[in-house]
Amino acid sequence: MGLQWGLGKKRKWGETAGAATASRTMDKEYVGFAALPNQLHRKSVKKGFDFTLMVAGGPVLSTGESGLGKSTLINSLFLTNLYEDRHLPEASARLTQTLTIERRGVEIEEGGIKVKLTLVDTPGFGDSVDCSDCWLPVVRFIEEQFEQYLRDESGLNRKNIQDSRVHCCLYFISPFGRGLRPLDVAFLRAVHEKVNIIPVIAKADALMPKETQALKQRIRDQLKEEEINIYQFPDCDSDEDEDFKRQDAEMKESIPFAVVGSCEVVRDGGTRPVRGRRYSWGTVEVENPHHCDFLNLRRMLVQTHLQDLKEVTHDILYEGYRASCLQSLARPGARDRASRSKLSRQSATEIPLPMLPLAETEKLIREKDEELRRMQEMLEKMQAQMQQSQTQGEQSDAL
Ligand code: GDP
Repeated sequence: MGLQWGLGKKRKWGETAGAATASRTMDKEYVGFAALPNQLHRKSVKKGFDFTLMVAGGPVLSTGESGLGKSTLINSLFLTNLYEDRHLPEASARLTQTLTIERRGVEIEEGGIKVKLTLVDTPGFGDSVDCSDCWLPVVRFIEEQFEQYLRDESGLNRKNIQDSRVHCCLYFISPFGRGLRPLDVAFLRAVHEKVNIIPVIAKADALMPKETQALKQRIRDQLKEEEINIYQFPDCDSDEDEDFKRQDAEMKESIPFAVVGSCEVVRDGGTRPVRGRRYSWGTVEVENPHHCDFLNLRRMLVQTHLQDLKEVTHDILYEGYRASCLQSLARPGARDRASRSKLSRQSATEIPLPMLPLAETEKLIREKDEELRRMQEMLEKMQAQMQQSQTQGEQSDAL
């Protein structure tokens, strides 16, 4: 009896051809679960996808003369000009420039699928002569997005929450250094528990294949030494086909991706138009896997891991932030106790305390109190109105 749902001779709305066939062949045994993924697919396509990507990384040289090719790579990745309105300061002005955070949005549609891409750029990062703590605005920005989400999520209307959390940070590393510089390490350490980091070696056409491999290894070693967590690719499912498994393994081995960007389409030998950089000795093709890892990066970012990056952001990074917020809400005065316990004897059973700014939590509590107060007022007004109409009704009855 319980296996009767979805049965019927006619193909119903929402039932796929495959499901209909299954229905015919399995007759009464067919429930219709096979069509569940189609429901999700339809819903997701209708809703569209959104993704927030941050780009960061210092200048190629420590004197701030030239960028690492962040905007060029982004334009090449998404085949769109996200930097139309960009104003580039003079080299001398960049020496004293402070870091700013810029947000740009673009809606990309391909084959009926809409993606709302938000790009968070960090111009000025590492440009200034004095770079001490220059990553702090980035950390604050990432936390503010978490805070906003937490506030929206704990509000009364949770229906149309705008998710502005940063899902991924492409971190650009100079090809001319000998690995990560102290500024890179400081930045990565400051954000690695708040955002999915994907390191890339910028302008990889400046390196020979052997140099690229050596630099990649050096960066991997440094990340390990410094205990910096970058985005961990999930393991490939065992039932995936061999081709997919091979591509997945290749992608994991390419990290940090050595990339080349170009907004120019050149003709390769006068025949095939390709995106590339033309030199006197030949052309570096952006989308040629023998020349750089651009394709691997794009495949990973768009085709295979976009959803996982969002899930890790929500389930792990945001959850961590939320848990520490709740912990500090549940334990008022925890910070005082922590500072006191440092002076006195340290308790072995002390739970690690959140390093969250107390002001943020207090702000959140104040807002909740205010919301409750407003609701209370509304209730009292409604009660007064009801009482009034009741008294009026009784008076008219008596008359
Ligand atoms: P941003 O300031 O980091 O956004 O850097 P831009 O994208 O503006 O690039 C700075 C300069 O580097 C420009 O002259 C680009 O043409 C050049 N450029 C960008 N990508 C590459 C690359 O992959 N290889 C080389 N050799 N130059 C690049």
